[in-house]
Amino acid sequence: MSILDVPTQGRTTPEDTDGASVPHVRLAIVGTGFAGLGLAIRLKAQGIEDFVLIERADDVGGTWQANTYPGCQCDVPSHLYSFSFAPNPRWTRTYSRQPEIWQYLRDLTAEHDLYPHIRFNHDLTGAAWDNDRRLWRVETSRGSWTADLLIDATGPLSYPAVPRIRGLGSFKGTMFHSAEWDHDHDLTGERVAVIGTGASAIQFVPQIAEQVGQMHVFQRTAPWIMPHTDRPTTRFERRLYRTFPFLQKAVRGAVYWMRESYAVGFIKRPSLMTGGEKIAAAHLRKQVKDPELRRKLTPRFRLGCKRVLMSNSWYPTLTRDDVELVTEGIEAIRGNTIHLADGSTREVDTIIFGTGFHVTDPPSARLVRGRDGGTLAERMQSGIQAYLGATVEGLPNYFKLIGPNTGLGHNSMVYMIESHINYVMDALRVMDEQDIAEFEVRPDVMASYNAMLQAKLPGTVWMSGCSSWYLDADGKNVTLWPDYTFRFRHRTRRFKTKAYLLRHGADVGAVAEVTA
Ligand SMILES: Cc1cc2nc3c(=O)[nH]c(=O)nc-3n(C[C@H](O)[C@H](O)[C@H](O)COP(=O)(O)OP(=O)(O)OC[C@H]3O[C@@H](n4cnc5c(N)ncnc54)[C@H](O)[C@@H]3O)c2cc1C
Repeated sequence: MSILDVPTQGRTTPEDTDGASVPHVRLAIVGTGFAGLGLAIRLKAQGIEDFVLIERADDVGGTWQANTYPGCQCDVPSHLYSFSFAPNPRWTRTYSRQPEIWQYLRDLTAEHDLYPHIRFNHDLTGAAWDNDRRLWRVETSRGSWTADLLIDATGPLSYPAVPRIRGLGSFKGTMFHSAEWDHDHDLTGERVAVIGTGASAIQFVPQIAEQVGQMHVFQRTAPWIMPHTDRPTTRFERRLYRTFPFLQKAVRGAVYWMRESYAVGFIKRPSLMTGGEKIAAAHLRKQVKDPELRRKLTPRFRLGCKRVLMSNSWYPTLTRDDVELVTEGIEAIRGNTIHLADGSTREVDTIIFGTGFHVTDPPSARLVRGRDGGTLAERMQSGIQAYLGATVEGLPNYFKLIGPNTGLGHNSMVYMIESHINYVMDALRVMDEQDIAEFEVRPDVMASYNAMLQAKLPGTVWMSGCSSWYLDADGKNVTLWPDYTFRFRHRTRRFKTKAYLLRHGADVGAVAEVTA
């Protein structure tokens, strides 16, 4: 399908440079994960068709399209880790695996007829606010648009991060990141190095242990591991939820409030985490008998400071004879050899990185240019921030979905995504009702909001003294929401115009001309 097939409702924006036209849409949404798709579904439900979804991949799903590594699974129960407006009575496990979550999102895309709006294999290469015309100029690898609003739904965990290791480029074998799993590469009998022991590694390491010849798992910090309660759902349960949807709603509510109760320990009283620490320590004692291995696997920070992980197979895998846990730092890689700080070496055929994502320095921030022509990354040099995690000073008519300080350590990100979708939908309503052509968050409002967040953070478990991907290079927490999620829902319920500098349609001839 050509980019000119985008539903533009007949509008184009005249280009003043070469006279060519590009399609104009009301909303350009970048990303088709839970956030981009969820917003698109709500737009269509409101009868709004004038939008395009720009996606660099060749399918929808975002996180759940990209992360196809063996054992990939959500760690929030599926009844909650799904849209409230699209419950799925067919989940086959309590914590669904990647193929099922991906299929859920593809089914929703088809059911809500979103495919005609999506432009796959379109990589956003730049988006700049045009001050004269008062619209966004959106450039992709395969076409351009102009838009009244730019919605950045590129996700917090969508740019894989690989650590800087001396000589990595000289590695002679195969290497890939867990979010870009090389399914064409056969690991059978190989000597494999896994770097990282975070949420992804603890899922894929047990899955490949049987297949590989020898595995070396490189750990910088031992994570806390809780017993997993995942189980298959029964046919009876599934029939029950299909027949009585209110029962599934009730379970979702119960899971939500149980998870929300954890926030007390995470946010208000980290000392309460000792209860969880006892459960995790007993789990380790039960599964690892070797005192030396157990010592290496014992975390030295408060439970919750880094993401809490769940697995019943991680520890048993590390006790296998053909699996080695390496806690010595990597000095360099030469040829197929990994050199460690203690002078020892490991010969490997393949390196798999389970090293997470660019969270506090998202590359997409370098692509978005605001009113003064500077990029979002330049604007955020002293740490990324936004108002309500969504709007940014100097970027008119822009929303970031699940942007800075909206992440969670205890509950479902889909809940936060839905809160942001509510906020965007209310903004559209208010813009229509009050004939608002342009909005931009007031600098003082954004500053006081972020000061409020930073004032709340010191008492939380995340600031209790560990290094984690929640913190930026300066040790500032720019990723997590330091309060109850229902408070975030409440704050994002209404688009309150007093937080914004506004231009009304009647005041701006140029805008009226373009959008009329
Ligand atoms: C392995 C894994 C497991 C997780 N499990 C959980 C869980 O159990 N519970 C939970 O709450 N959260 C979990 N998360 C967090 C998860 O990322 C969010 O829950 C949610 O999926 C984010 O959705 P999103 O739409 O914001 O972003 P994404 O799903 O990341 O989607 C972003 C989309 O933007 C596209 N994109 C990015 N840059 C560009 C560009 N330049 N041009 C065009 N398109 C672009 C990407 O291709 C992608 O499709 C997990 C994350 C990972 C990686």
